[in-house]
Amino acid sequence: MEKLDVKFVEKAQQDISQAKNIVIVSHKNPDGDAIGSGLALYHLLKNKNKNVVFVVPNQLPVYLNWMNAYAEILNFELNKEKGLEILDQADLFLMLDFNHRSRLSDMGDKIINSKAAKILIDHHPNPEEIAELIYSRTSASSTAEMVYEFIESVFSLEDINKTIAECLFVGIMTDTGSFSYNSSNPITFGIVSNLLKREIDKDYITDKIYNNYSESRLRLLGHAINTNLRVLPEYQAAYIFLSKKDLENYNFQPGDTEGFVNYPLSIHNVVFSAIFIEKEGVTKCSFRSKGSFPANIVSKENFNGGGHINAAGGESKLGLSETINKFEEILPKYEKFLKQNKS
Ligand code: 5GP
Ligand code: MN
Repeated sequence: MEKLDVKFVEKAQQDISQAKNIVIVSHKNPDGDAIGSGLALYHLLKNKNKNVVFVVPNQLPVYLNWMNAYAEILNFELNKEKGLEILDQADLFLMLDFNHRSRLSDMGDKIINSKAAKILIDHHPNPEEIAELIYSRTSASSTAEMVYEFIESVFSLEDINKTIAECLFVGIMTDTGSFSYNSSNPITFGIVSNLLKREIDKDYITDKIYNNYSESRLRLLGHAINTNLRVLPEYQAAYIFLSKKDLENYNFQPGDTEGFVNYPLSIHNVVFSAIFIEKEGVTKCSFRSKGSFPANIVSKENFNGGGHINAAGGESKLGLSETINKFEEILPKYEKFLKQNKS
């Protein structure tokens, strides 16, 4: 288990004990790690009788709607007035699973300019200096793993009850694709082992997350792969695209396209995969890669994004087909990384 710096721990303990209104925040398009990490701390602070609110910039994924206190998370985009009031009143922000203010969307300015104390816990590379206290560990599988360590140092492992263990497990499991990547460090399994000792029902959680979709979501996946998949063997790359019409035709719900981007990586010799999804005014881009191919560099250099080496995302202001054209055009620049991987 990683031990947090003593000074960090003392200051965090002081900030938390002094705070009257604690606000937990995470990134836009929150995923299992964002929600799992946030809800774990939310439950823990509630158990300590703290006044705490969990706010996210926009829509929550439907596939997590079974989680304890999911309905208490405030969607800032839908509740701006209440959201602004909560941000204004905060005297401590716990910032989870993001490394840059841009990931907070509209909430960013308010939070960054706030005089409230701030603690950032995150596993993305190169965190921006947006908090006095920053716990950064890029070797961590997930922010949830780091929240476990934070709880161990700042509170006590005894504070992790079954509900909190479940939240942390969701974060670790979803950010590692059910322990298929980013999870070779024994620390991760040590933590998971301790979570399982809280008698969480691993099989139930897995079933709720991966087998909780609508029929139309499965058909959307079928359409995406059958009709909208392009493979570019010369670049060991493949991508999927989904237009607004596709999403409409299959009754898209937030979270429905989660995981689609991984499928092209199952093709022999494909080491770089992308998905482009047409949204209101932007094209959402997600990238996944294998080995040393840097998905985050491609995203940062071309699609206003970032992330981890093997999992990154971004956004393009161009339309769907222009974004795809751009992607095909820039691929030759990254051939040097592709060749290295060829087997
Ligand atoms: P996803 O493809 O699941 O949306 O995101 C994969 C990874 O890329 C996550 O670690 C996430 O933090 C990062 N990411 C996704 N979208 C963006 C974005 O718009 N900007 C940045 N900087 N990172 C992103
Ligand atoms: Mn994460």
